[in-house]
Amino acid sequence: MPGIDYRAARADIRLVEVLHLIGWEARARWGEQRRGPCPLHGSRSRTSRVFAAHLGKNVYHCFKCGAGGNVLDLWATLTHQPLHAAVLDLCQRLGRPVPWWAARQPRRGPPDYAIE
Ligand SMILES: [Zn+2]
Repeated sequence: MPGIDYRAARADIRLVEVLHLIGWEARARWGEQRRGPCPLHGSRSRTSRVFAAHLGKNVYHCFKCGAGGNVLDLWATLTHQPLHAAVLDLCQRLGRPVPWWAARQPRRGPPDYAIE
């Protein structure tokens, strides 16, 4: 099975899409940061602001349970799947192509210099 280009997946899938997918609602906004209840440890209060999502940096952090990471980590943790399965699942739900390494253009190596 070809590998997933996690870097491409992280760059392509936005945190806001995942938050939308789970119906998360922000309780506070500061610039690109959104704060609200933590979907991972399950904040009891709907007005909780312990979970911080940075939409620009595509990362999250919970000040209560200490969970944090990038958009792919969030889906893996939420759905209790290993990262590889979580990315496949997430791409399918969002209707996105999976960024396989094999599907990408081969990297261009350094030019061939003629040695005199
Ligand atoms: Zn939490």
